[in-house]
Amino acid sequence: MSTPSVIVEIETALPIPAHLIGELQSKLAYVDESIVEAKVQANKITLVVQEDGLNDSLKEKVARVVSSMVKGAIQPKIQVLESHLERPVSYQLDPMLELARRGEISQEAYGIYSLGPLLSRLIAFFESQFLELADSFDAAPYRFPTLIPARYLERVNYFRSFPHSLSFATHLREDLDVIDAFAQSACCDADGAVQAGERTFAPIQTLLSPAVCYHLYFALADRPLPSGKLAATAVGNCFRYESINLNSLERLWNFSMREIIFVGPKDYVLENREIGRQRMAEVLEKIGLAYQVESANDPFFIGEFRKQAAFQSAFQLKFEIRARLPFKESTLAVGSYNYHQDFFGRNLNITLPDGGPVHTGCIAFGLERIAFAFLAQFGLEPAGWPETVREGFHE
Ligand code: AMP
Ligand code: ZN
Repeated sequence: MSTPSVIVEIETALPIPAHLIGELQSKLAYVDESIVEAKVQANKITLVVQEDGLNDSLKEKVARVVSSMVKGAIQPKIQVLESHLERPVSYQLDPMLELARRGEISQEAYGIYSLGPLLSRLIAFFESQFLELADSFDAAPYRFPTLIPARYLERVNYFRSFPHSLSFATHLREDLDVIDAFAQSACCDADGAVQAGERTFAPIQTLLSPAVCYHLYFALADRPLPSGKLAATAVGNCFRYESINLNSLERLWNFSMREIIFVGPKDYVLENREIGRQRMAEVLEKIGLAYQVESANDPFFIGEFRKQAAFQSAFQLKFEIRARLPFKESTLAVGSYNYHQDFFGRNLNITLPDGGPVHTGCIAFGLERIAFAFLAQFGLEPAGWPETVREGFHE
């Protein structure tokens, strides 16, 4: 980690359009293990690279990513459904500084944080609002595991779409010699990586779950949907490995998500997604959050990005609630309104009474992110918060 680093500047063969700068920058994290920082400008990429990791293929790999993401890319038309970015806010600093000073966050590793009482109570307040929203749809409660079988994710093309962010789980092989050897000699190296003999770990059949709603679709797979439609809600731990982009509460490896999920005919899903957005707009107004709802796409990996992002955009499949972060004059997605068409219905063989595949959609909130964005707008002193939050926040 402490090896010297060098700066590598690469002129790009193609100009990078503004709408791809952030997306490309986050993808560069996965190009080579030696990259510790990446910055993308219209015609230039600047990398901070560990000196001992410099290699000839670096520039070629960067060129490959640029070409794959930029060549033939069509700028999506961003559709704004609501704009409340001008709402007054009362804080301008990065809340990470004050959260760390007060011992409210404790970083265990990149993207892994423990949260203290202020954040936990604030998240409990937001959860109460999301649960009220779920109740307004009579959404049935579910509890899902943190682990998810590899074959489930394979069945819905997750390996192909998001390979870079997968997190794998394994265990020791069930063999007395292997377990004894591990117990006696396994240790962590200087980077914290477990050192153990070859063939110590069992083949990977299980991952850490990247989303909540998938578990519901798998629970419904390979049979007709009994009542023809279903509203459900659950909260869960989600895992998305985001490499060097894991820099604060904004981007975590291990985060929590509350989802409200709709399964049924197309109109049922689309109508409820829209009703959910309208009801949520009232809640966010009471909370005082400065935000905008706009069309978006998922962070598909390089090879899939252009096609899939364009598809999501063309069919208005994803809208994000982007909250303002005054300290960096940018916005952060704190939630999303998603419509998957009949993708899960077809791939998992979940059918409607008429025999056709179900459609699905979900409303998803990142709990750490909404708390973070709120603190970025209103600071850490409850006395300065909008009344609804002050009243609903239980010390
Ligand atoms: P998505 O399914 O990607 O729309 O995610 C739903 C919500 O989860 C996002 O709007 C974020 O609030 C949150 N989220 C997604 N990825 C992360 C992450 N790496 N760290 C923290 N929150 C996240
Ligand atoms: Zn979902």
